[in-house]
Amino acid sequence: MNNRGARRQPEYDVVVVGAGPVGSAAALACAEYGLSTLCIEEHGTIGYPVQCAGLLSQNAFHECEVSGKSVLNEVSGAEVVTDSGNHLLINAGVTKAFVVDRGILDREMAERAAAAGAEFRLKTAVFRMEGNRLFTRGVEGHQEVSYKVLIAADGPRSSIARLRGMKRAGFYLAGVQAEIICENDPLFVGVYPDASPEFFAWRIPIDRKRVRIGLAGMTRVKEKFFSFSQRFPGSSLDFVLGTIPIGVMPVTYGDRAMYVGDAGGFAKPTSGGGVYTGIRTARHAAATAHHCIENSVFDDASLSRYEQLWKQDIGKELEQGLLMFRMRQTLGPVETGRLVRALSDPEILDIIRQYGDMDRPASVMKELLKKPALYRQSGMLIRCGIRMFTGYTL
Ligand SMILES: Cc1cc2nc3c(=O)[nH]c(=O)nc-3n(C[C@H](O)[C@H](O)[C@H](O)COP(=O)(O)OP(=O)(O)OC[C@H]3O[C@@H](n4cnc5c(N)ncnc54)[C@H](O)[C@@H]3O)c2cc1C
Repeated sequence: MNNRGARRQPEYDVVVVGAGPVGSAAALACAEYGLSTLCIEEHGTIGYPVQCAGLLSQNAFHECEVSGKSVLNEVSGAEVVTDSGNHLLINAGVTKAFVVDRGILDREMAERAAAAGAEFRLKTAVFRMEGNRLFTRGVEGHQEVSYKVLIAADGPRSSIARLRGMKRAGFYLAGVQAEIICENDPLFVGVYPDASPEFFAWRIPIDRKRVRIGLAGMTRVKEKFFSFSQRFPGSSLDFVLGTIPIGVMPVTYGDRAMYVGDAGGFAKPTSGGGVYTGIRTARHAAATAHHCIENSVFDDASLSRYEQLWKQDIGKELEQGLLMFRMRQTLGPVETGRLVRALSDPEILDIIRQYGDMDRPASVMKELLKKPALYRQSGMLIRCGIRMFTGYTL
């Protein structure tokens, strides 16, 4: 590729590629450390197209550090519905999660980063890298940008990871979702394990008359989605296709770059949610960038601090989540029916209400494993759980 004609820019302390929630969180944190920060985004509008169900736990929402203007609904629990007719309602009685407009949320996050001093360059895509320089094309023509540290927040198909030849996430799920005009219960999210046996299908209420229905999986995803959507008769106003990476890439840093959010495969393997974990990684990457720049050290050993930080914070959860994801692949409708029946025990429901945390599901798993009733009903789950917490394979 010929770089002649590419305009050279001043060197930035940090360049963030991608202005999704994770890129904007990284740009904000870097700007707050006083680092000169540029955030590059290939789309002309931040937050669009939306590729998300917009369900955020209270914690995840607070991690975004935004006002309430993106919040469309508050939900206080979930109902699990299996094809065998088993039904489980988990009602926390208080708000457990928010349903948000991701377009508005992403934009507000970028606005905060820009107000803190980060520079944004839209409609500009990175297409080549060389040393600590990257080459972009976009509305301002071809440009060459140098950085001390790069934060790759360019989503599940990360071109930075590809250009750098990094090993990627272990699994990729395809997600399909539509917004439907349809009467529904606005207080509870619906989970339908049998509609997508490789993961699950969902119903997320926006209000009494509007709902987001979707599913994620690895095979025949559109076909399964159209069959699932028959349960929700109504006009569709919005249709989304997206990718969910499952499994963190084996090494998340190298050559002055750190991979955060979906670019690093940080979505939760249990739910596919990536906003909470992604923002946590953004903060760790910004702290590492600050440390490297303050000390003028840019070797891989210095960058490895990033991996230590995220592992201390969410490493165990992600590892255990991946085991649960693998276990999910072995559960058919008979087992999910049995499991839902076992979970309907009032004592077990109490534990779920007490320890349930969408972002850190390992704690509720640990408590559930202490219950013999669940042992009898669902040996496979328990075997997997014991392996998770003790390392022993039964
Ligand atoms: C159907 C579906 C439903 C989901 N539902 C939920 C949910 O309810 N809750 C939840 O927490 N998570 C959910 N997720 C996951 C969530 O959307 C992602 O984890 C989250 O958006 C990750 O944020 P990110 O900033 O890492 O990546 P992204 O949001 O993908 O942002 C990456 C950005 O990088 C830009 N970019 C890419 N390449 C380049 C390039 N070469 N140059 C410049 N810019 C580039 C892209 O345009 C994009 O704006 C869902 C995902 C799907 C597919």
